[in-house]
Amino acid sequence: MPEERIAAGNSIGGALTAFRERVNQPGTIFSTDHWLLPKLDQLRQLLTNPITQEEAEALLDVLYQRHWMADLIAWLESRRPVNWADFFIYRENLAKEELRKRADERDRRRAAGLDPDFNFKLFPDEYFPKISDICPDCGSSHWKPIAYGLPTEDTEEDARRGHVVLGGCMLGDAKRYCVACFNSWPTKPDVSKPAGRPEWIQQQIADSRVEYAHLSALADSPPAPEEPVVERAWARIDRSVRFLVSFGDNKTIVTKNLGYFRLGGAPTYNPGFLSWCTYDESRRLSTLAAVVAIRFERTHQPERHNLYNDWGKVQAHQREFDRDSNEESFCREWVQKRRKKLIELLKLARAIPERLPSVISTRSFDRDKKFLVRFPWGIVGVERQRFSLLEPLEYRCTSSCTRDEDPELAQNLACAAAMLAEFPRLEDADRHLLRAKEAE
Ligand SMILES: [Zn+2]
Repeated sequence: MPEERIAAGNSIGGALTAFRERVNQPGTIFSTDHWLLPKLDQLRQLLTNPITQEEAEALLDVLYQRHWMADLIAWLESRRPVNWADFFIYRENLAKEELRKRADERDRRRAAGLDPDFNFKLFPDEYFPKISDICPDCGSSHWKPIAYGLPTEDTEEDARRGHVVLGGCMLGDAKRYCVACFNSWPTKPDVSKPAGRPEWIQQQIADSRVEYAHLSALADSPPAPEEPVVERAWARIDRSVRFLVSFGDNKTIVTKNLGYFRLGGAPTYNPGFLSWCTYDESRRLSTLAAVVAIRFERTHQPERHNLYNDWGKVQAHQREFDRDSNEESFCREWVQKRRKKLIELLKLARAIPERLPSVISTRSFDRDKKFLVRFPWGIVGVERQRFSLLEPLEYRCTSSCTRDEDPELAQNLACAAAMLAEFPRLEDADRHLLRAKEAE
């Protein structure tokens, strides 16, 4: 039995040999020598000789798959801050402590007006549409950013601390969540047709009429004493209406949708998830919420803030973004710029060849070249870049030439000199330009 050979007072060598013999047996860990031998070497360095009672227990825990080998090595390598039996709770607490510290640090950075995670801006402000700082429905400024995706432990902690709300794994359009009325924005107006097979949609249309008749009849009867109340209601651009319904301590939103109504059915009243009650209870309360919404509608006009939940802003921003990032027009603009510059340099080289400085060195880097040019007042560099074989070459002086009385002219003269060094016959430069033009 391995218990006899992996026991307090036995030598490391004996215990580890027993361990190796017992792997891949019923009830023990699966292992290969390729994986196991380096681990045993590590253990040989870390265990005491002869092994202690605690070490023996830990080895048997790993052998019988009660704990991982990695845990045992972590315990030994961390110099056994606590007993093996307490190590797991200890490590868990340590991780919690780390999590808390990181969250505290993010809190501190938020309080100082910094991004909680980054020292630099990942995206400039213009990258995002400027959406409303107050809720487009209710006007509250009490909102939280929505974090999408599978949350990390850190994001979960931030959500617990109330810095973000978790938006689930499906990436949505909405960036902000209103704490007062559960609205999120920006959102696209819902004007799409209901999806599904035609027969199914016909069934839904019929069902919507039945359901609406049922709810209307309930709304006709006098209100029950403990009914919820509609606090406020908002109309949306897509003609849907949201009702904020209060059950005393708890609130929910009922959304009136017109998807089936547009196809000849009736409006549907859809309450949000009632997280505080059981399934049966929530069915009863959902019906009540829909009934009070219908009754409210008969006597009140929903508020209209006419902000379209910021969708217009998002679209305008997107249009501008698309225009700015249109690669084709961007490239064309640059090609034209380079051609203009090259024509200017050619003119200069022809008009005042005597004023061109002398090129004292030329070096090639892959497709590009670097020149050193000597003026009476000093030496400056010129870089020549070729972006593609079909585009005009670009010469750029790397010095600001402020020591010259006309820095801009000096830069152009330096570039012209470099061009002349590359095309000793200016007609070749003309030909290069012509070729680039034809390719366009
Ligand atoms: Zn709101």
